[in-house]
Amino acid sequence: MRGISLLMYHQVGKFPPMRSHRATYCDVDRFRRQMAWLRAFRYHVLDMDQVAACLSGARPVPPRAVALTFDDGYENFLTHAAPILERHGFPAIVYVVPTLLGRPARWLAADGHATPRLMDAGQLRELQARGFTIGSHNLVHERMAGQPPEVQYQTARDSKARLEDLLGRPCHHFCYPYGSHDAASLQALARAGYRTGVTCQRATATADFDPLALPRKAVSFGDSLAGVLWKLHAKHRPKRPPLRR
Ligand SMILES: [Zn+2]
Repeated sequence: MRGISLLMYHQVGKFPPMRSHRATYCDVDRFRRQMAWLRAFRYHVLDMDQVAACLSGARPVPPRAVALTFDDGYENFLTHAAPILERHGFPAIVYVVPTLLGRPARWLAADGHATPRLMDAGQLRELQARGFTIGSHNLVHERMAGQPPEVQYQTARDSKARLEDLLGRPCHHFCYPYGSHDAASLQALARAGYRTGVTCQRATATADFDPLALPRKAVSFGDSLAGVLWKLHAKHRPKRPPLRR
């Protein structure tokens, strides 16, 4: 069965050298080379509506199918990633936390990271006008697994409503903060009306996965181009069996 590699990025920019692999940073020059590679070798870069349609069988999965996802909504998406994506005409989704727009990403401080600024509402409207999709990263940047089902439902629903008010467009796509989800999370997203939900499990997304718990492949600071290609083409069986409704 053909699948889709959903690449997961967080920050794109210029960062001091790091010793560890750091899945939440990507050097902008490496990012430029990764996108040029996708272009040169004619990967099919899909938006998340197309991902949902392909995995439901409504349309065929094209060969070399990829989707580009960016968590948290850092301002450096606007300054570094967006112009490169636009040069190639690649769609992408940015998952944002509607209660934290325009604020520093404080949750990163707990792990000793800097706390860069998150995009504000005006910047998100600008991105949307430029053709990018904005998805929900829930109401607050906290783990969902283990929270009462009703709380999970309310936060998923309220984050969707807030983004729809702010951007004047339906919000169909969700990203679990820290990838944290349980069976109740999938039910919460279904009830709130989302079409897709993405996790941090590493695998190629296929119709075997519930569309509300799609796996992704993190691109890390330490990944060379060869490393990214390996991630793109390896199937990566998930460590835990994926949840389904
Ligand atoms: Zn996040």
